[in-house]
Amino acid sequence: MSELSIRYRRADAKARGNEPWWHPVEGTGRDQVRALQDQKLREQMAYLQERSAFYQRKYQAAGIAFSDIRSVDDLAGVPFTVKQELRDSLAEAPPYGLHQAADLADIVQMQASSGTTGNPSYVALTESDAEMWQDLTARTLFSCGVRPGDLVLHGFGMGKGFVGGLPVFQAIQYMGAIDIPVGADGGVDRLLRAADDLRPRCVVGAPNFLIHVAEMAPEVLGKPASELGVERVVVGGEPGGGIPAIRNHLQEIWGAKCCELLGGTDLAVAYWGECDDQSGMHDICGDHIIVELLDPETDAVLAWEKGARGELIYTAIGRQASPLVRFRSGDHVEVLDTDCACGRTGPKIRCFGRTDDMLIVRGVNVFPSAIQDLVLAMQPQTNGVMRVLADFEGHTTQGNLKVLVERGPGRDAADDDALQASVEQHLRNALAFKAAVTIVPTDRFEKPGVQKVALTLRETPDFLSA
Ligand SMILES: [Zn+2]
Repeated sequence: MSELSIRYRRADAKARGNEPWWHPVEGTGRDQVRALQDQKLREQMAYLQERSAFYQRKYQAAGIAFSDIRSVDDLAGVPFTVKQELRDSLAEAPPYGLHQAADLADIVQMQASSGTTGNPSYVALTESDAEMWQDLTARTLFSCGVRPGDLVLHGFGMGKGFVGGLPVFQAIQYMGAIDIPVGADGGVDRLLRAADDLRPRCVVGAPNFLIHVAEMAPEVLGKPASELGVERVVVGGEPGGGIPAIRNHLQEIWGAKCCELLGGTDLAVAYWGECDDQSGMHDICGDHIIVELLDPETDAVLAWEKGARGELIYTAIGRQASPLVRFRSGDHVEVLDTDCACGRTGPKIRCFGRTDDMLIVRGVNVFPSAIQDLVLAMQPQTNGVMRVLADFEGHTTQGNLKVLVERGPGRDAADDDALQASVEQHLRNALAFKAAVTIVPTDRFEKPGVQKVALTLRETPDFLSA
């Protein structure tokens, strides 16, 4: 007499494996997507007007009526929502903040975002929200090459409420693939032994961590990771998958194709996914999230054109429990293209930095990760390892930005002057700021690895100050 009320995977998951993408919206014309967004935005505003104490208060203070926000274009006049407001909202009205807009009884799940600064922030989901999260994440995994029926080794952290854990597990299950739930926190040995025992077709995790895992394979298993039969490496959670030097290394060491995905806990899990073309991550979320590209200098909304650079701004449409409007993600991206051989219609981006890391050098925005890209590309003259020495207050300097770059292995220190000049010129040409580069010996700084390494130092390291 029992009635099955939950589903572990979509009934049509297997059939979708033969489609060019997970969801039809990925191949729908942008005008049609925009029309859907306008309609869903109006519905979302009516919902918030009725249910969100947070936005009622915010818009009243700003003199904005919900009914004035009728199309994506109207969003340009609406105030942003920033992370600190969400922290304040959570503190004022636990557990899910003043921006909780669904009844507590309808909330079925929560997750936490660690963030790089401050306390974790908590996000609530209704059943409808949870299904949306799973569908969006399935779209990105599918674009990166995961298919129903695959075994997928889980290399993101499973703990701490992080969306790379349980929600990624759920999305893999939802799409009819099978998650091997070891997790980064399960440790390198267990991950490698599971890979050797089970021969998964796919591995997901943070790029630097998956490099570390593969590098340990000869020691742990007595064979290289490239002999484990993995065909797809799916990376996210930090920049890296889109940096040619890191991507190439991942592909070589795993003997597999590597694509990346991007998202963020406040809106969902992952909602940008790279296809086989490996030319940037597509917007695959148009029916659930409106994405604007913002010029961070002027706050003007930019057109989605090849070469445009800006910060991603997100508005959830159809979100029930923790809806956000014009949320400043802090992710700074470049639009790589607006069409693609794969047929997906969403623009393709690459993330090059976070607002939290941004420095302003004589008025020019500089991201340490962008400097790292360039230094990585200058191997083998460099070791690919660098640090910014930001020995000034705050994030702004009128001086030349000090950058420490490791000499390539086996290179002669007598060539340091030429290398220094070369790095400085590359930085000036590519990133439009003046650096004061110091070449330092090889292996002085921690390489990208298990932990995210901080690329910015606030004090001169001992070996230089002595
Ligand atoms: Zn594509």
